[in-house]
Amino acid sequence: MHDLLTVSDSGLYCPAGDFHIDPWRPVPRAVITHAHSDHARSGCGRYLCWTTGKLVLRERIGNRPIDVLRRGESVSMNGVKVSMAPAGHILGSAQVRLEHGGITWVVTGDYKLQADPTCEPFEPLRCDVLVTESTFGLPIYRWGDPAAVAESINEWWRENRDQGRTSVLFAYSLGKAQRLASVLDPAIGPIYAHGAVMRLVKAYRDSGIRLPSIDQCTRETRKAGDGRAMVIAPPSAAGGRWLRTFGDARAAMASGWMAIRGVRRRRGFDRGFVLSDHADFPGLLTAIQASGARRVLVTHGSAAALARLLCERGLEASVLQTRFTGETVEAETSEDVEAETSDEERGEESGGDPGDAAGDAEPVEVA
Ligand SMILES: [Zn+2]
Repeated sequence: MHDLLTVSDSGLYCPAGDFHIDPWRPVPRAVITHAHSDHARSGCGRYLCWTTGKLVLRERIGNRPIDVLRRGESVSMNGVKVSMAPAGHILGSAQVRLEHGGITWVVTGDYKLQADPTCEPFEPLRCDVLVTESTFGLPIYRWGDPAAVAESINEWWRENRDQGRTSVLFAYSLGKAQRLASVLDPAIGPIYAHGAVMRLVKAYRDSGIRLPSIDQCTRETRKAGDGRAMVIAPPSAAGGRWLRTFGDARAAMASGWMAIRGVRRRRGFDRGFVLSDHADFPGLLTAIQASGARRVLVTHGSAAALARLLCERGLEASVLQTRFTGETVEAETSEDVEAETSDEERGEESGGDPGDAAGDAEPVEVA
């Protein structure tokens, strides 16, 4: 019997159903696990996603037709039954379940098992074949309690404020930034965000997610919050002129990669908070076991090491080569800060409309 999914030039392809999952090129029919840029490309004919992900996906792909699936719903695509369940990664992230000829496949997309107030929790799905991510698929990756991480972020902010220093927290603009905003304590001071973050804050709010008051970081807000504010910005804005305009500021990064000693220091952050929207190593093993799958295809991150370990445990496991990247340490580079940051956000005279401070470039983060 042929595999339900193969990898084509355009991405994960279901020959029986004639559709792609998270294609990396425009295709007629795309089933989308979530709206991060390595999974949701623009230009496809028609999209299918989990119901709570529609507005965030719309922000990413523009004005194309988007169909949604809700809990308990399925759709038949050329006789392949497609359904979804939450993946707990970012708002609207979902696993995709395919049934055909008595065989069930599940594609996890990116996922995590930790609590996140800004998205629905991961729900295990039973299947015969599981396609799982493995961004953090090595035993060294073990996350602490996210509530304790939130506590230490607020503590860091409070200390900076007491010393008259602005706190700048770098995090992926889709998902991580909103998750962080949701746990900040607004009693400490005002919260501002880079334009790339603000666009997605709006999509989250419009989707019904409660977030504290957040203003766009402009010349005016910068002055008003001087020395007291928390500023949330994408990693691409770290370093360079944008950060320097805050004067006496402290910079931190929230990422799973902060678990690696040396990464924080090399990137020049004062603090690193270990917080990821991906499953840690025990989380990956828990999810794989809960699927009941006998065959596991592992993609991106530590795929080879994880596949080897699963084979040792008696599963039929192998690496599936894809172009998904998960959360990469490289994505924390700051080269394109100039492209992403408007003059207004830098606190400079732009000569343009002072109300338009969003910055036009697409966020580059992928996790
Ligand atoms: Zn992702």
